[in-house]
Amino acid sequence: MNGFALYEYTIDEGFDPIRYVGPDDPSTIDEEWVAVVAEDYGYDAPSDSKAQLVLSIMATHWPMLDEIMGLQPPVVCFGGNPEDFENDVARYVFESASSQRSPVIVVAPYLPKDQAEITILHEIAHAYLDSRGVPPEDHDEDLVESFGEMALRGSYEFAVEMLDGFAQGVDVSGSPIGREWQSQEGLKKVIGLLGEDRVVIETPSSRESGFGHHVLPLTELEDEIDLDERKAASAGRMAQRVATAEAKEEAALAEREDTEGFADQFSPLKRGRIIKTLNATMTLDRGPVKTRKQHVRDLVAKGFRPAVVPGVGEVLQGPDETYYRAKDLTKTAIDYAAWLTR
Ligand SMILES: [Zn+2]
Repeated sequence: MNGFALYEYTIDEGFDPIRYVGPDDPSTIDEEWVAVVAEDYGYDAPSDSKAQLVLSIMATHWPMLDEIMGLQPPVVCFGGNPEDFENDVARYVFESASSQRSPVIVVAPYLPKDQAEITILHEIAHAYLDSRGVPPEDHDEDLVESFGEMALRGSYEFAVEMLDGFAQGVDVSGSPIGREWQSQEGLKKVIGLLGEDRVVIETPSSRESGFGHHVLPLTELEDEIDLDERKAASAGRMAQRVATAEAKEEAALAEREDTEGFADQFSPLKRGRIIKTLNATMTLDRGPVKTRKQHVRDLVAKGFRPAVVPGVGEVLQGPDETYYRAKDLTKTAIDYAAWLTR
């Protein structure tokens, strides 16, 4: 492989380097070519930027794939009519099971930059399956797309091994490719098959790095998914419990600090003492144990009001004139009642 070049094709002259836009010194280019504008087939000449895009994609991936696929370098043409493509932006022109000829990939002139790489890899997978004798109508689109995704992340050997498995008659109908589930680490996805009995699983970390995909016997996949999902669910429940406990603790703290603004008028030190006094638990008249604060709130609700009884001093007095003295409730509690009824 000497490099990549864009050639123009004319039926009379064959492939001629009429217009060179490749990245390498043209004099180093031998018989190796990748992108061709076949104008005599009615294809449009690509803009230099689109041609460069294709060339750079090929320069990235082809040297890796060339080694393991044993295909002639693909010819990439820019096609003319949108209707040639239906919903695709590229298509492989099937060449009937030959690895002796270059596969021809036709891409739309409007080839979007963000789809170009995966698209070309996808079409290369079709070309490879074709060279392995798999007729086009038998190509599995999910598998081919999965090849593109794997190659994109640099897992070339896995990717080709997966196509080999398919070409050898591995039935991928109902295959788990594309299956996704939640694990404790995040989303996992089956991105390929190795031979008949192993699956390649992408994990959040291998998705990030392109390496370290998890390979698992197909027979263990269901158990793995089940285990992952149960772990993820239990981690979720644990997080839920922690969140609930934290919310409860926060609510309890907020309730403890709540004196309807009474304590908040004072210095932090005094505020702290007031909150402590009002939250201390006690009984009145052998009744239920409540915080002092709650006793005062309940008494105020029953109509008790701060008052001064001659000879006794400050009290919290009820509608029937019974009262609680400061030494029963504390002076702070009576001041708090005054605040509540101000
Ligand atoms: Zn396809």
